[in-house]
Amino acid sequence: MKNDRVQEQFNRFERTLRTEGHKLTTQRLAVYRELTVADDHPSAEALFGRLHKKLPMLSRNTVYRTLALLAKRGLITKVETVENQSRFDGRCEPHHHVICNRCHKIIDFHCPPVNEVLLPKEIESWGTIESKILVIYGICGKCLDK
Ligand SMILES: [Zn+2]
Ligand SMILES: [Zn+2]
Repeated sequence: MKNDRVQEQFNRFERTLRTEGHKLTTQRLAVYRELTVADDHPSAEALFGRLHKKLPMLSRNTVYRTLALLAKRGLITKVETVENQSRFDGRCEPHHHVICNRCHKIIDFHCPPVNEVLLPKEIESWGTIESKILVIYGICGKCLDK
């Protein structure tokens, strides 16, 4: 099941880059692959650290630029956090996040009722709503136990 999703994501990744005339380089593929197997929403810096061990030739700059390109194309998601560093997500289907303010761990969750939430009138008439994403902040159980 998980493999199917990963395969489908890879196909989309390949298709999107090709149609838009971007080369499918080993580096881009490596960045994308590393992010899709990560489930901790790494920052660009953390991702670079992991990739650097496997591919010492890969530059920090390439990692940052690739992430920006993929996020712009909707192939990955930039997670909105209150931290200075952006965090990235290999999952691009709509889902929500819970973020711990202490350990900064980010967890995914699905909650279909969020789509049905009625927004204030001025927001409904503001334009077209394309997605409703929930970000919840708090202190996780592990941090509370410390
Ligand atoms: Zn925590
Ligand atoms: Zn996520």
